[in-house]
Amino acid sequence: MSPGLFLCGTDTDVGKTAIAVAIVRDLVRQGVAVGVCKPVASGVGPDGGDPQRLWEAAGFPGRLAEVCPQAFAAAVAPARAAAAEGRAIDDTLLVDAVTAWRARSEFVVVEGAGGLYSPLSSRLLNADLARTLGLPLVVCDDARLGAIGRTLAVVTAARSEGHPLAAVVLSQVADPGAAGEEDPQSPTAIALSGLEDLRERLAPTPVLFLRHGAEQIEPAIDWQLAAGGAGLH
Ligand SMILES: [Mg+2]
Repeated sequence: MSPGLFLCGTDTDVGKTAIAVAIVRDLVRQGVAVGVCKPVASGVGPDGGDPQRLWEAAGFPGRLAEVCPQAFAAAVAPARAAAAEGRAIDDTLLVDAVTAWRARSEFVVVEGAGGLYSPLSSRLLNADLARTLGLPLVVCDDARLGAIGRTLAVVTAARSEGHPLAAVVLSQVADPGAAGEEDPQSPTAIALSGLEDLRERLAPTPVLFLRHGAEQIEPAIDWQLAAGGAGLH
């Protein structure tokens, strides 16, 4: 079984997919055969949503239906989105979808749905799936004001439950506009001060930044090393 990472958010819409895409592209550039999986997705429209973006970043391995075997249209919690289509979430398939990629890739990047404690089904939370898979977490948050508190809440809870933590990544979801970082109230100054604070509090865990519209996470780290324990607490 190949190693990998489980990306979880502090909330929904905090930039997880952009972070996952950046990690996957980084690994692909190094020649790593990366498997990608979004075990369940809701709010998937005709553009294919998150699964399509992950699949594209990985260079279209396998089939899109293998990236996300359980995709639903309604942008609500997965169990409710499935029910709206007369279906139910298959808990076993949540695990099997990832395991299939781990059996045939060198590394797997898994994007959860919503936050670490968001439900994947009527029974399972993201945290439950991450534990079953035994993959270290990448905790993702929006770099907007409040990132320190949101991130520490999730990291503290994850640690208390024994989840290994590979990294924290803050993603600048909204366009920061023209204000420079010399203005302490500018979005970029807020993001950078949040990063600095979290680096001090969470060292030696890597705390990284994905700027708005950027393709690469900074600073660059070795994701295979981080998944293997270099960034563990
Ligand atoms: Mg996403």
